[in-house]
Amino acid sequence: MTPRYIGITSTIPVEIIYAAGAIPVDLNNVFITSEEPAQMITLAENAGFARNYCAWIKGMFGALQLRPEISEVIGVVQGDCANTGALLELLRHRGLTTYEFAYPSRGDSAGLSRSITCLESALGAAPGESEVWRIRLNETRRTALEIDRLTWQEDIFNGEENHLALINTSDFKGDPDSYFVELSTVLKASRTRTPLVSGVRLGLVGVPPITSDIFTRTAEMGAGVVYNEVQREFAMPHRSASLTEQYLGYTYPYGAGTRAPVIAREAAKRRVDGLIHYVQSFCYHQLDEIIIRETAGVPVLNLEADKPGPLDGRNRLRLEAFVETLKEGKQNNV
Ligand code: SF4
Repeated sequence: MTPRYIGITSTIPVEIIYAAGAIPVDLNNVFITSEEPAQMITLAENAGFARNYCAWIKGMFGALQLRPEISEVIGVVQGDCANTGALLELLRHRGLTTYEFAYPSRGDSAGLSRSITCLESALGAAPGESEVWRIRLNETRRTALEIDRLTWQEDIFNGEENHLALINTSDFKGDPDSYFVELSTVLKASRTRTPLVSGVRLGLVGVPPITSDIFTRTAEMGAGVVYNEVQREFAMPHRSASLTEQYLGYTYPYGAGTRAPVIAREAAKRRVDGLIHYVQSFCYHQLDEIIIRETAGVPVLNLEADKPGPLDGRNRLRLEAFVETLKEGKQNNV
């Protein structure tokens, strides 16, 4: 039987896709982990996307051109930006089958249950099967979260390893059993590691960065990322008893007002010295910085980038100055 691939534009209850017997593909990951992400941007711009349109949207559109086996796409139309709705419209126009998923207002449990049931029925998932998958995926989620714990509590994993372990829980790389084995192997091999030297401790909040070298650059500057906010959310770090509860606890779609207290709590718990708030050019999330800055309890650097690739000179200098300031602050507190 030909596998049924379903693209996703953002984290949705992926359990439903598995319950429908299909394979989820996080289009963001296809775009950013490809050897030539810039090529996908070019494909989108050649198709008519404006130069100043969000690069993540262009990248997902480009990824679909290179993966013709993906003929169905689920987009988040509430709890994410309007660009996703416009992208779905275009994909429909191009003949793809699209589904809309809505995260209702925060705390609206009945509304979220309705969204889940709607998607189950649209994809053809048997009743109760998504819950079976929730329980089945929990072990892999817990394994990714153990890597997260070892990152901040025992300094065993670096920020990039942490990022990779967590970010792939959006789709489990399309093969949850293999992904579980992969994470378990990484975890087992870490038992012989000696802890990393702890310098300046950073948190990275906001949409995952489009830049390729933020982790290596910070390491070169004597800093380590011990908190990847949104990536950790993908792994669903809170205990829950149902799919609805699980995705009610997922903070990203419910705005900066919901995310900020969690960020402040995690920053304190992880002894973070400063936060990098990554923002994508032309993205409405830029405004989140005000709430995060006023709530975080630690200094915040707003870092904006547009295209995939290394950090530009200006951002490198700003990052370096930020890390140096945090180092001085630490020394003065000794
Ligand atoms: S980065 Fe911002 S503008 Fe781009 S898709 Fe995500 S929310 Fe929308």
